[in-house]
Amino acid sequence: MRLSECKPGQNALIKKVGGEGALRQHFLDMGVLPGTGVTIMKYAPMGDPVELRIRGYELTLRLDDAAKIDVEPVDALPEVGLKADAKAVKADAGKAVKKKGAAAATEEGKTDHPGFGEEGRFHPPGSGNPLPEGTTLSFALIGNQNSGKTTLFNQLTGSNQHVGNFPGVTVDRKDGVIRGHADTLVTDLPGIYSMSPYSGEEIVSRDHVLKERPKAVINIVDVTNISRGLYLTMQVLEMGFPTVLAMNMMDEMTGNGGWVDINKMEQMLGIPVVPISAAKNEGVDELVNHALHIAKYQEAPTRQDFCDAADHGGAVHRCLHAVIHLIEDHAERAGLPVRFAASKLIEGDPLILDQLQLDQNEKETLEHIVTQMENERGMDRSAAIADMRYSFIYKICDRCIVSPAESKEHIRSQKMDGILSGKYTAIPVFICIMALVFYLTFGLIGPFFQDLLAAGIEMLGSAVENLMEHANINAAFRSLIMDGLFEGVGSVVSFLPIIVTMFFFLSILEDSGYIARVAFFMDKPLRKIGLSGRSIVPMLIGFGCTVPAVMSTRTLPSARDRKMTILLTPFMSCTAKLPIYGFLISAFFPGQAWWIITCLYLLGILAAIVLAFFFKKTLFRGEAVPFVMELPNYRMPGVKNVLQLLWEKARDFLHRAFSVILVATLVVWFLQSFDFRFELVEDAHDSILATISGCLIPIMKPTGLGDWRLITSLISGFMAKESVVATMEILFADTGFSVISSLTAASLLVFSLLYTPCVAAIASIKRELGRKWAVIVVLWQCAIAWLGAFIVQLIGMLF
Ligand code: GDP
Ligand code: MG
Repeated sequence: MRLSECKPGQNALIKKVGGEGALRQHFLDMGVLPGTGVTIMKYAPMGDPVELRIRGYELTLRLDDAAKIDVEPVDALPEVGLKADAKAVKADAGKAVKKKGAAAATEEGKTDHPGFGEEGRFHPPGSGNPLPEGTTLSFALIGNQNSGKTTLFNQLTGSNQHVGNFPGVTVDRKDGVIRGHADTLVTDLPGIYSMSPYSGEEIVSRDHVLKERPKAVINIVDVTNISRGLYLTMQVLEMGFPTVLAMNMMDEMTGNGGWVDINKMEQMLGIPVVPISAAKNEGVDELVNHALHIAKYQEAPTRQDFCDAADHGGAVHRCLHAVIHLIEDHAERAGLPVRFAASKLIEGDPLILDQLQLDQNEKETLEHIVTQMENERGMDRSAAIADMRYSFIYKICDRCIVSPAESKEHIRSQKMDGILSGKYTAIPVFICIMALVFYLTFGLIGPFFQDLLAAGIEMLGSAVENLMEHANINAAFRSLIMDGLFEGVGSVVSFLPIIVTMFFFLSILEDSGYIARVAFFMDKPLRKIGLSGRSIVPMLIGFGCTVPAVMSTRTLPSARDRKMTILLTPFMSCTAKLPIYGFLISAFFPGQAWWIITCLYLLGILAAIVLAFFFKKTLFRGEAVPFVMELPNYRMPGVKNVLQLLWEKARDFLHRAFSVILVATLVVWFLQSFDFRFELVEDAHDSILATISGCLIPIMKPTGLGDWRLITSLISGFMAKESVVATMEILFADTGFSVISSLTAASLLVFSLLYTPCVAAIASIKRELGRKWAVIVVLWQCAIAWLGAFIVQLIGMLF
């Protein structure tokens, strides 16, 4: 029976995992292995994807992918590891555990937490060989998504952080100095599940560790979801870097009566293990001490070998060690950790195979060893390695962890999901939530602060103007400061409150785990146009403002989806275009506002859908990324995280406003204030901008917009859409609007809807996709707008 044919509530054992290549590897990495028990939780409201519970967490799969997994229905699933009887534990240990929080977990182990002292515990006394004083201790922060990396990173670094991009890829890179330890540097790597080259993030993380060689790794594991976390840990250990394991969310674990034998775990893994609660800042100091110690003394993990000669006749064990022997010198030459390279080779990782440069003979020997193992083990290569890792994890869980039968966070999440992603309620609730977010952002909180800020800027502006008048500053410079700086940059800066408010709500939705649910139930409709569930969020924000929309695509897990989503969001008509619509409709089509505006919005969406189909068939033909996603428990977002994010976004936006946007504003100001003799013009008609607009008349004629004043207005809309109306008011002051026909007005509406986004949006697109794409976006949107307006003219001629 296939997994996709199971009914909700059904338990099943996985028999066979089909599929191929990276997707299959990803299945295995997520713990979808032959012999594992799964429970079908539910299907999304539109019937696809499906939500499973496996190894103690919730996973979503598309039906197409689920159909590749063969299962055998069973009544009950075998239990993994020890289960605490929640009631009994609560009765005796519960109180003590609750009171002492994370620290209590170590006490349960009866012995003190191992000290690290001057000589440490993980290297023999006397052999300590610290790095010279003044060496920067660099740390990589590695962990699954939602394991609390960002929370921990913020605790570690406070405000000493720097946000940028990883070289060559548009994935956020955050670096920071640990508070109180000047010679340190922590890098927050993207959340990953494995060191396989499955997603861009995994490659980024892997390359970062292998090429930049941090002095040590801080591996963070969500203790309530430990087996999947440890799967990554084992690959980190194989890489051989000094590593400390941070067991996060200890508060939830102990709060539910579970506990961890830390000492035993340290023994089994050969690295220091520190229980922490990042959100409550418990255990973080101890973690820092351990991290500094292992980095300073370069304490490599004492264990890298997780295969057991006694497991299933030792086939995997023999295979791994044979491959290690085979490639030892190659790995050394390529600068790769040999155990890591060996297990990746057996998994069939093409990138590692390339780097090792084995000769033909060696390649054949490798294949021979692997085939032998596959035959003996009765499993294919990738499954055998994943199975070996999960067997070891099973042993750890069995000996070191008493987990609660069911945590109250999970029960609460299930209840919330009953409504938030329920069959009939999911979409109505989603619409209500988004409507509320929009109303609060664009209707209430945003404009309030925007008006405040705009008033502030205006006051400052008039103060400066007075000052300049008194000081007899020349007119050109005054105009530069007033029209260029205050009008241009000022109007962009006044968007800051809206952007910050939008991000405030978004980060709450994201951190709480709700966005993952939205992606779950919106995946099916979006997949039809070649996108995946997560793209819905940036698209929706695009109706507010393209700038935060483009910025929010960073949460998308694949580069292809991110690119496509960024290119489509400008078609979602933003609020800054509303003044244009309002102005033109009231002047030319009075009383018909609602249906015209609705049509315009729909036209934008339609354009995006058509374009998406076009992309899907041409530029972005590749596989839509499989939708294998975890649904984390709902959690209260941390106040600190949210504030930190808002500060980052605000800083980012202001930085842009005073660089790219400032320059662009000044250029337009210059063009509309001077003529070709570089003399200040009285009448805008004589300016360079007007002359350039004049050149565009032949091009714009077929669209009905071949009037220099209209063209100039549209060009000024490049700065900010609001200024289209302002410019028109000035330029048509003498003649009045009667010179424009209503057909022209209709063309103008369509053109404004579709043509290039404003400079702030272009700047964000440039930041995400690079200059080339920013230019392409401007050009093709103008072309599409031209086409749209031209079609309006054609239709107009029919009547
Ligand atoms: P990331 O995806 O790895 O960066 O994870 P985040 O730092 O964004 O954390 C995911 C969620 O877990 C957020 O809602 C955090 O507030 C929450 N969280 C992080 N650490 C802890 C913790 O120690 N205890 C609890 N209860 N929640 C936490
Ligand atoms: Mg994060």
